[in-house]
Amino acid sequence: MLAADGRGTSRDRVQRDDPDVLLAACAVARALCHLVSSWAAAAWRAFRNGPGIPKRTFAGKASPRAGPETTYKGETGGYSRVTKSSYVDRTIGSRDRDAIVQAHWTTRPKDDPDAAAVSHRLLVLAWHNVEPTWCFPATRGSGTRGLQAQLAFLRRTANVVPLAGALAALGRGDPLPPRPVALTFDDGYRDQLELAVPMLERLELPATFFLVPGLLDGTVQAWWEQLAWIFTRATKDSVVWEGRTVGLRSPAERRTSLLAVLENLKRRDRRGRDAALEELLDRCAPEGTLEERAAFLDWDAARRLDRRGFTVESHSLVHSILAEEPESGQEQDLVTSRRRLQQELDLPIDLLAYPNGKRGDYSRATVAAAARAGYSHALTTVEGWNRPSTEPYEVHRFVQQPERGVPGLAIVPLHRPWLWMRAIRDRRA
Ligand SMILES: [Zn+2]
Repeated sequence: MLAADGRGTSRDRVQRDDPDVLLAACAVARALCHLVSSWAAAAWRAFRNGPGIPKRTFAGKASPRAGPETTYKGETGGYSRVTKSSYVDRTIGSRDRDAIVQAHWTTRPKDDPDAAAVSHRLLVLAWHNVEPTWCFPATRGSGTRGLQAQLAFLRRTANVVPLAGALAALGRGDPLPPRPVALTFDDGYRDQLELAVPMLERLELPATFFLVPGLLDGTVQAWWEQLAWIFTRATKDSVVWEGRTVGLRSPAERRTSLLAVLENLKRRDRRGRDAALEELLDRCAPEGTLEERAAFLDWDAARRLDRRGFTVESHSLVHSILAEEPESGQEQDLVTSRRRLQQELDLPIDLLAYPNGKRGDYSRATVAAAARAGYSHALTTVEGWNRPSTEPYEVHRFVQQPERGVPGLAIVPLHRPWLWMRAIRDRRA
């Protein structure tokens, strides 16, 4: 329809000029059709199956028709008529039900209502510092409070399992307890021993600490903390570095500049990064001195972690971004790191966490070097669940910010969320 002036009504213009509106309308209609058809299919299934088939309820509430023996059909997420015990027998063959309960390796009481709901998906969480550092600023005290809340929440709702055993079980295709979670800490910040370890001990939670021999020696610096200190304490309003102006006028501008330069330096080899740090130190002329040594564990502290029952594993020799190093250098780094930790701590070292750990921070060559260096598994910071099919040198982890507390755990998409909801409900006390 055209208006008298020939420009058309507003509706005409929307239809003619903005085909996105039509596309969006089609998408909404399609979504509604999909919803209605899935409801209809569910209703038909319920009608056809008749009584005795439990109804799905989000919080795991038993439907009036569900008997005490009915259960979820394990990994398929659907329901079946099978009882818990026959489900367990069918799923894991020769293992009996007690073995499943035994598989609640550490923290769960034996009367866990989900004992039969074995899992084949492992969630691995990673933390770094607890309290704020130059690179990871936060309100003082919030990291301690937040981590305490996160760990207490996991103690109540998850089965916190030792990482190495869980990875081995997953590799063999053996079942894990329901809602299995493994806890890891990277880099060896001192407050992991002083703040996190007492919390873990109180809650009786196992954890794995990925340490860097160079930082334990004190022969290398944590370059990300050094860079953050340079920018935070710079006495200049701006500096020119590699042809660009780096703004340092306000705290916000310093933070923006820091994040940009951090990403830039991650894409250099160790030598190039060290040279850039020297140059930035010189240009920014920060005031005071960096007391970095005190922020990280030394070898004595690493031995204390082991004596207190925690697992120590490798986080590379000097925390280089491995993919940026030559292939021969990567293997040498990983072999030496493993040997140093074994010798100094008199422990087997089988696991590796790639520094930084995102895709691009490790390469196919890194994976091959890790295997040749004798590690059984390597962990990334690429988010995801770990299944039996997960590549053993690309184990997924979700990095956590302690100061975000329990809401921070919400970044983790839960597998079989109704089991978690039930656990949250039942263990709130
Ligand atoms: Zn690290």
